[in-house]
Amino acid sequence: MIEKYASVVGEQEIDGIVKIAEKLKGVSVLHVNSTKAGGGVAEILNRMVPLMKDLGINVDWKIIRGDSEFFNVTKSFHNSLQNGTGSLNDEQFKIYDKWQEINSTEVPLDYDVMFIHDPQPAGLVKYKKNNTWIWRCHIDISNPFPPVWKFLSHYVSQYKSMIVSVPSFGRDDLDIPQFVIPPSIDPLSIKNGFIHDVTVRRVLRKYEIDENKPIITQVSRFDRAKDPIGVIRAFKLTRAHVDSQLVYVGSPASDDPEGEIVYKEVVKEVGDEKDIHLLMLPAGSDLEINAFQRASAVVMQKSIKEGFGLTVSEAMWKQRPVIGGNTGGIPLQVIHGITGYLVDSVEGASHYMTFLLKNKEYGNVLGARAKEHVRQNFLITRELRDYLLTILYSMGK
Ligand code: UDP
Repeated sequence: MIEKYASVVGEQEIDGIVKIAEKLKGVSVLHVNSTKAGGGVAEILNRMVPLMKDLGINVDWKIIRGDSEFFNVTKSFHNSLQNGTGSLNDEQFKIYDKWQEINSTEVPLDYDVMFIHDPQPAGLVKYKKNNTWIWRCHIDISNPFPPVWKFLSHYVSQYKSMIVSVPSFGRDDLDIPQFVIPPSIDPLSIKNGFIHDVTVRRVLRKYEIDENKPIITQVSRFDRAKDPIGVIRAFKLTRAHVDSQLVYVGSPASDDPEGEIVYKEVVKEVGDEKDIHLLMLPAGSDLEINAFQRASAVVMQKSIKEGFGLTVSEAMWKQRPVIGGNTGGIPLQVIHGITGYLVDSVEGASHYMTFLLKNKEYGNVLGARAKEHVRQNFLITRELRDYLLTILYSMGK
């Protein structure tokens, strides 16, 4: 399985990964997060876990459990860590702790390495045995709401090491080793692998999208941090100059209770606009997403806050020009004017949308550079190698 990637990243890279993995043969690793589907963490683990297994590592993946009260609390954590504001009280911290305790009796905690993703299960470390715990943080914690960070960092400081996605997310108030490992996409997955034009057109027809009108796409959960309203407003401004259509693809995530509310806000903003296709697809609609990204003249990821933004690399790998919000991990991927455009406003987004719709060839130039940038930096083989090295280091091997 790992050998298949040689055609994309070269034999040498694969050789390096296999050699590092040799040192971890027989080591047991458990990945723990809060959802099996929906969002970037599940997306990566779905591909990463089988690859680690293929390399001879004894790896498993478990999801923590929680009720709606718990996921409301963790969504508030998520928002207040990323936005620097919030209003959480002791009651909510207690709910968080209660579910850590419940999960500590259901999730096996005795693997050699416990790889804990994001804040939702971070408190499990309280129940750690004499093994190696690594906290993998996928969100922007550079400017957290102090009470929530104080609560969470008490747990994080008990880990052997921590991983963030972007250098600026590193914390100088923690004593544990911190690694910067940007996330990655799998070039051989159904979502990102090559598909024929015929398939792309078939998907467009299935969703009644005009093949002959330029398409602007954003693929995102219905989360205010992804600025769906801003995308729609930018599109409406653009459409006044260039005939085009917007495809906004979203799906629910079981650990995101705000999705439905935001979806309703989006429906209202769309109004009776015929050229906006608002699609709520079930999790696992990978072929459809692949097709929409490939069919697009422009791909948007107009986030206001973003951990990394896998959708950016997904589109760039398909040689599409991306307009991204200038935040979090997006500027690692989009180098302004070289591999896409970065924006801070609706007007800015509309400006570059219009430019790219009117200059398709230039979009292709950006797209070609974008693909090489992803090949060098954001493919799963690189993240896998970084994970293996972090495990080796954290275990003191
Ligand atoms: N995604 C999807 N269907 C959707 C919306 C998103 O499959 O309707 C996928 C998207 O293609 C990407 C991941 O979910 O692989 C989202 O990851 P990202 O890092 O962009 O954002 P997150 O949701 O983790 O904040």
